[in-house]
Amino acid sequence: MRIHEAGALHGDFDFYTLRPGWLGVPDDVNALLPQLWASNVERADDGVLHIGGLSVQDLAAEFGTPAYVLDEDDFRARCRSWTEAFADADVYYAAKAFCSKAVLRAAVEEGLNVDVCTAGELAVALSAGLEPARLGLHGNNKSLAELRQAVELDLGRIVADSFTEIERLEEISASLGKRAKVMVRVNVGVEAHTHEYIATAHEDQKFGFSLAGGHAYEAARRVVAAEHLELVGLHSHIGSQIFDTAAFEVSAARVVRLQAKLQADLGVALPELDLGGGFGMAYTSQDDPQPPADIAASLGKIVAEECAAAGIDAPRLSIEPGRTLIGPAVFTLYEVGTVKPVTLSAGASRLYVSVDGGISDNIRTALYDATYSATVASRASQAAPALARVVGKHCEAGDIVVKDEFLPADIAAGDLLAVPGTGAYCRSMGSNYNHVPRPPVVAVRDGEARVILARETVDDLLRLDVG
Ligand SMILES: *Cc1c(COP(=O)(O)O)cnc(C)c1O
Repeated sequence: MRIHEAGALHGDFDFYTLRPGWLGVPDDVNALLPQLWASNVERADDGVLHIGGLSVQDLAAEFGTPAYVLDEDDFRARCRSWTEAFADADVYYAAKAFCSKAVLRAAVEEGLNVDVCTAGELAVALSAGLEPARLGLHGNNKSLAELRQAVELDLGRIVADSFTEIERLEEISASLGKRAKVMVRVNVGVEAHTHEYIATAHEDQKFGFSLAGGHAYEAARRVVAAEHLELVGLHSHIGSQIFDTAAFEVSAARVVRLQAKLQADLGVALPELDLGGGFGMAYTSQDDPQPPADIAASLGKIVAEECAAAGIDAPRLSIEPGRTLIGPAVFTLYEVGTVKPVTLSAGASRLYVSVDGGISDNIRTALYDATYSATVASRASQAAPALARVVGKHCEAGDIVVKDEFLPADIAAGDLLAVPGTGAYCRSMGSNYNHVPRPPVVAVRDGEARVILARETVDDLLRLDVG
């Protein structure tokens, strides 16, 4: 196989023509882009990736591959950067991004509250010893058992998502002699993803009460009228992986106007306002997230201005980041099994690099066309960069982990490969497809590694197969 120097496009074996426009050919294929990696990850002088002083080779030897590796101090620092930026607000960690006892406990130790959306996530929070008052419950179809448990426990807030649910909550609260704290989830008609948002006409989805259709107003009115419910505020969540605060500003302005109307009509001053999560993180060189302080400043300003214009007191803000807290704190460590150059009809080629995991540990690429980055972790290479696609071991052509990345052309079986930014929605969306057991999560802190979620085994799977 002939390998060209970076930038060369001649010859009959071209690794470069297939790359997407945003993906530059790296000057140094061993370099780590700082925004993609947890702060305690570095490539040491011997070329090996280290986290908190531990080499990935030692981690792989002790814990096996694939494994999710969490930089715990990095996660804690991210939590603090958001609680400091939002000092006058409440920050809820969205547990669905990644839910384990150790991580929920760390979030609470750093001053956050926690959002859960099922009995399963709630069970993890409770077994981690979290106080129910610091928990919020979400979901568009909470079961009666979930609602009952939430009311019984006096959860900090239950975010109501349908008229049926408001009725059920009132019945349950009455029967238990409780007064449940309820927020009303408003569908503000703003949908935001990555660098774009659309300010109207995105009401066609399952979450929340439509603002434009008047349902949000009616839901709030019914909660206020319900004897055993306390309306603590309005809630909106407009999407995920959002980089543009303009989308939050439009949604904040809309909910504040609804709040002002409720106050004028019903005489209720709602103490809280939740603007949801969805703040973007960096997966590739094209992503450049705003610092939390800038986001806090623009959200605080728009809420203050809208409240002043409407003549109401500003409610206490809350936000619910998930991805931006845990995503960048984790990388997945794989071992390369096979490397296959595939030449396409145009004469252009890419290297298919197969690793020992795939859509069972990261379904986001297949599900959302998500972009990721990767690097050879067990050594530095002097080889030229080759356009590669990192794929898994599953029986599915869509089993792609990293769609486009430049990796050293001499990448080979036995190399360790690290994919950064896999803390959010990877383990939590993991599956056992092809009966591949889910990888462990290994937390590194103060130069020590410990398993916080054990590796699943084939025995675990067989235990459920009762014949
Ligand atoms: C998913 C979700 C979040 C967290 O979103 P991120 O993109 O992880 O920040 C917050 N709030 C609600 C209601 C959600 O559904």
